[in-house]
Amino acid sequence: MMCSVGDDIFEGDKFMPTKQVTTSKTCNKCKTAEPQLVLRGKDAYCKSCFLEGVTHKFKSTLGKSKLIRPRDRVLIVYEDNGNSTALLHMVRNGLNLSTPKKLNFIPVVVFVEDQYHLPLKERHNVIEQAKEVITALNFDLILVSLAQYATNSGSIDKLIYSEGLTISESDKDELFKNVQTDTSDTNKTELISIIKRNLLIEVAKHLDCKYVFTSEISMDITTNLLKNVSLGRGSQIPLESGFCDDRDTQVKILRPLYLFDSKEIEYYNKYNNITYVHARTDEVNTYSSIHTLMKKFVMDLQNNFPSTVTTVLKTGDKIERVKGKAICQLCKAPLCDNVPQLTSEESTKFSSLISNTKVDFTNLDFVDKPLDQTDERVFCLSCNELSKCLINS
Ligand SMILES: [Zn+2]
Ligand SMILES: [Zn+2]
Repeated sequence: MMCSVGDDIFEGDKFMPTKQVTTSKTCNKCKTAEPQLVLRGKDAYCKSCFLEGVTHKFKSTLGKSKLIRPRDRVLIVYEDNGNSTALLHMVRNGLNLSTPKKLNFIPVVVFVEDQYHLPLKERHNVIEQAKEVITALNFDLILVSLAQYATNSGSIDKLIYSEGLTISESDKDELFKNVQTDTSDTNKTELISIIKRNLLIEVAKHLDCKYVFTSEISMDITTNLLKNVSLGRGSQIPLESGFCDDRDTQVKILRPLYLFDSKEIEYYNKYNNITYVHARTDEVNTYSSIHTLMKKFVMDLQNNFPSTVTTVLKTGDKIERVKGKAICQLCKAPLCDNVPQLTSEESTKFSSLISNTKVDFTNLDFVDKPLDQTDERVFCLSCNELSKCLINS
């Protein structure tokens, strides 16, 4: 896809208020200690008030939802980054408490191997390091290979390992063997994220977990929200950009860190001396996919106008959920029921209808009728496009 967006996108910067850094003499919270860090460009905290605030925010995000009951099993997804390690740390601290505020669920940690940008040896190292981090925090770990999951139609229990996960140089080729060779990076990234989500739901069901915790922070959620708008997945924003993704009836995906920003996580890890696995990231061209482009755009926003990221996040939270009985066979999101206004999906159908059909302008009756009298849709608008990249689909 062509993209003409350049670095001059912020031509209007000079009219925007820049972030203001205040230098306070005492901590905002206790009003006595010397501040150690400034959040959001204005709130100064000492170390202990900051750590207390983080723990409170984490607990209240989980508590407000009132979803998790004592002894519920929760699958926590571990990724090789600081956000995910901070999440495990917060969970471990919560489970270890001896006060009534103690967390009471039963955790299982999963690491999904998909580090295809690294050489095999480095991929093995990442798995070993992940094992060390997770064992040190006293969690049970299971390992799953994304490529094995995507290419095996058999039962999930054969794909779950506690150690000895087999990985190979050809995993990436295997993963994409049913995908057209000229598929764009945007579509490949979408496919990977859909496969990964389906994997997590299946693993959770197999392990009897009602919930999955993932570690997206505010910036990831905002990036995802804007990506979804760009890809015609607007109706999925409430599922992908809030605290809870409940599109599956048995397993809910929860994002306990969705209100945290990168600086909070960075300082949480720093003050707790948390070391984490940090594999080399893939050096990709910013303009190679909508995902990388949105990531850069949101990172720039976060650096220069942090409150804008929060505003986008809060706006996403207000978007109403789509109600529909049918679900998309690929991403499993509900397909919109017919509504009085045309959805983008119907508008696209309508425009393709009038561009491809010789329309009888004396009889435009069909405009008033729902476009789908019988609901035979298999995919949502975006997955319908995505399905064209799949071979034999
Ligand atoms: Zn303080
Ligand atoms: Zn879909």
